[in-house]
Amino acid sequence: MNILVVEDEENIAKILRFNFEQEGYRVRVAGDGRTALDLHHDATPPFDLIVLDLMLPQMSGYETCRELRRVDEDVPVLALTARTLAEDKAQAFDCGVDQYITKPFALPELLSRVRRLLEVRRRTLDNGVTTRTERDVERFGNVQVDFGRFELHNGAEAHALTTREQELLRYFLKYDGVVLSRSRLQSDVWRDSAEITSRSIDNFVMRLRKMIEVDPTNPKHLVSVRGTGYRFFHNPNGADGDDLDTATTAEAT
Ligand code: CA
Repeated sequence: MNILVVEDEENIAKILRFNFEQEGYRVRVAGDGRTALDLHHDATPPFDLIVLDLMLPQMSGYETCRELRRVDEDVPVLALTARTLAEDKAQAFDCGVDQYITKPFALPELLSRVRRLLEVRRRTLDNGVTTRTERDVERFGNVQVDFGRFELHNGAEAHALTTREQELLRYFLKYDGVVLSRSRLQSDVWRDSAEITSRSIDNFVMRLRKMIEVDPTNPKHLVSVRGTGYRFFHNPNGADGDDLDTATTAEAT
């Protein structure tokens, strides 16, 4: 199981990391809310638990949790905080925190709560009953994409998907057969985030090709449109292969 620790006090982060790793969990640490949201966004496989300090620099833990809940209603969040007022707790729960533990905390209690949250999480995943994502599966060719589990199966091969890879693939699936420019992908999938370049979009596409194509160097589903971007075909055999190449080249000019 994967835990994201969001904590700006290095000593506490170190103690948490050490103890969680002793329990056999994989741990990532973020020192602020923005970094935490980015790590959550790109995590493969997704985090199973977020341990969140509420007093963080810049973006507070409350705000971080609110942002997180806009994209992920399911991942359990355990808040850690020095604030003990009832209003603080209420505010934390309003922001989508599942459990709350006050600093200084007793390690055995923390670990036992973490174990419990992860147990519930595992059972939820095993039953495939994560609320919003139930039955969110798409198929094309030999490929089956399970959006609820961030998994892609191509025949016997299984791949884990990051959130962004999923979003990009979902976008391609939605616009079956449509020529999609890099700038359109940048604005619709990356929402014009400054850190994305055409080059990194191409890298994402290359990774998807490795997962979905029989021969990634000669793609059939996810083809390049020269000078423009890409075009996805649910069913490449729906069109005659030669026509496909001609159409693609023609639209590129
Ligand atoms: Ca803090």
